[in-house]
Amino acid sequence: MKIYLNGEFVEKEQAKISVYDHGLLYGDGVFEGIRVYDGVIFKLKEHIDRLFDSATSLQIDIQTSKEEISKIVIDTIRINGLQDAYIRLVITRGVGDLGLDPRKCPKPTIFCIAEPMNPLLGEDGIKVITSSIRRLPVDVLNPAVKSLNYLNSILAKIQANYAGCDEAFLLDSEGYVAEGTGDNIFVIKNGKIKTPPVSSSVLKGITRDAVVDLAKEQGYEIVEEKLTLHDLYVADELFITGTAAELANVVEIDGRIINNGEMGEITKKLSKEFKKIRKVMGTKVYE
Ligand code: PMP
Repeated sequence: MKIYLNGEFVEKEQAKISVYDHGLLYGDGVFEGIRVYDGVIFKLKEHIDRLFDSATSLQIDIQTSKEEISKIVIDTIRINGLQDAYIRLVITRGVGDLGLDPRKCPKPTIFCIAEPMNPLLGEDGIKVITSSIRRLPVDVLNPAVKSLNYLNSILAKIQANYAGCDEAFLLDSEGYVAEGTGDNIFVIKNGKIKTPPVSSSVLKGITRDAVVDLAKEQGYEIVEEKLTLHDLYVADELFITGTAAELANVVEIDGRIINNGEMGEITKKLSKEFKKIRKVMGTKVYE
């Protein structure tokens, strides 16, 4: 497996970065998780745009154009001869000194990994708990920035592990439902689909947006509104979306069984349609 690292492709064992890299010392960096399906990179442009927005927000100067970064992703898949894979594209502040001043980091570190990966949480339906860890408020570290700081998601994941669950949901600082540790949440009640608005401490997921568009095209009523745990507990159907998890059905939340533990009809339909569109909506790797 060859990995792109700062201008060259190296073997996995040789893909090493400095212990002075601020991505490591301070979590100072941004990233994207992307998937390629059947040789088509799903919504590559949207991922690259979000990556640049995250970097702009943190004042990280990528020093490389969007076209060149896109080419790095394409080349990483090509060189490894992959058709279906998960891609991790990371840009850190770069190598600096032991202080946290970003001005000491003249050049960002760029790397890209691509390897086959099944849906992260399986395909049989997941059990979820609500974490006592809150999602970061927008005035602390805006979750819209996909940064290398995932500690609050990790703390929530540890709670899910102890509870014997697959995933944890986090509330925002006001107590409304925000998102999972690495995914967005959708609720279905009486045929209406709901998802929290991006203003409530939620990453604007690219899978989320694709599913919103898809649901509209399929004629479903879909709204972005603040949701409470009550809405989740009494849901007819509940599912999550994310690049790594794809579209995963929730069968249980905090001990409440959803739809008798079965995937509901609307979720099934959206899941089926999503599997169709994701093979065509994006950038072809091999011409
Ligand atoms: N929320 C968080 C916190 C995430 O890390 C992710 C994964 N990137 C998502 C939501 C889902 O976003 P996407 O569909 O773009 O992968």
